[in-house]
Amino acid sequence: KIQQSQTTKIVIAEGDGIGPEIMKAVLRILKAAKANIETESIEIGEQVYLSGNSAGIDEKAWEAISKNSVILKAPITTPQGKGYKSLNVTLRKSLGLFANVRPVSALHPYVKTHFPNMDIVVIRENEEDLYAGIEHKQTDDVVQCLKLITRPGCEKIVRYAFEYAKAYNRKKVTCMVKDNIMKLTDGLFHTVFKEIAAEYPEIESNSQIIDIGSAKLATVPEEYDVIVTSNLYGDIISDIVAETAGSVGMAGSANIGGKVAMFEAIHGSAPDIAGLKIANPSGLLNAAILMLAHIGQTEVADTIKNAWLTTLEDGIHTADIFQGNISKKKVGTEAFADAVIER
Ligand code: ATP
Ligand code: MG
Repeated sequence: KIQQSQTTKIVIAEGDGIGPEIMKAVLRILKAAKANIETESIEIGEQVYLSGNSAGIDEKAWEAISKNSVILKAPITTPQGKGYKSLNVTLRKSLGLFANVRPVSALHPYVKTHFPNMDIVVIRENEEDLYAGIEHKQTDDVVQCLKLITRPGCEKIVRYAFEYAKAYNRKKVTCMVKDNIMKLTDGLFHTVFKEIAAEYPEIESNSQIIDIGSAKLATVPEEYDVIVTSNLYGDIISDIVAETAGSVGMAGSANIGGKVAMFEAIHGSAPDIAGLKIANPSGLLNAAILMLAHIGQTEVADTIKNAWLTTLEDGIHTADIFQGNISKKKVGTEAFADAVIER
């Protein structure tokens, strides 16, 4: 934790697709709330890939990241076609950001959901598993993806989940994997979960197979508290959880590791609506709120969170949550940001 009085340097990546639109809106809100930050922009993603850099990130950007330890990043598009490595995966792995923390809670009735009391934190392992994208071709007709799971990796993420539950006064941690089929890889994750859960008798713990777990998340999400899971399952269930609470456009996330922390929306670059100026900036804004808390600027974080909640309560909604809601006004990205700033 960094002292509140100190200006914190933040590395900003405005991303691709809707990235620049939502980043602009979020930075305006941070400025209006007088967040004590100084920003340094880096260019990563699509343009860098298309210039012939297969990693999507160059030396200059790495240097900026190594000088500063906090990143606010908008979603990035990895171009289709082989040879382009996912920059999200590269950043998470290179920086050792082993935990991806994704809180989602219902804001019913201001954002309608069937589950007014849902309040879930998905804690997703961030470096291993199929999501590492280690694939190769065995023959022209047979391809392979390597699922690597390590004991240290499992221990780090599971312990993080229980420590998180303890710190935030959460009551239960649920493990979701598929160890009845993947007995070695998911089996190791589950074994480590049981070992570490035993060290936290004050926190309730249980396990579910990921398929029924996902089904229950879509039908009885209010029964869940903290969920710890491996990388790919975590990607999938956090979209389910966020959309069930209202919209994938609402949730933010913290990528936590050793020295660096990276904050981003849980959603992708939404190319289908890029440039239309209708994207919901809330996911990236919630990521920025998590970032402000991380650097010790909790008052600014609270101010922004309250202004954002009041905006939603006043029925000012972006298109993704407008339909079926008690909305008074459908607005675009910039007008939504203006409404937050006004409040
Ligand atoms: P990724 O693999 O990068 O996570 P994805 O395939 O999950 O990408 P997203 O880019 O997250 O896809 O988009 C999924 C859907 O949600 C799209 O229809 C998109 O328009 C919508 N969406 C995502 N983010 C927002 C947002 N901030 N505001 C409005 N709609 C959004
Ligand atoms: Mg996605």
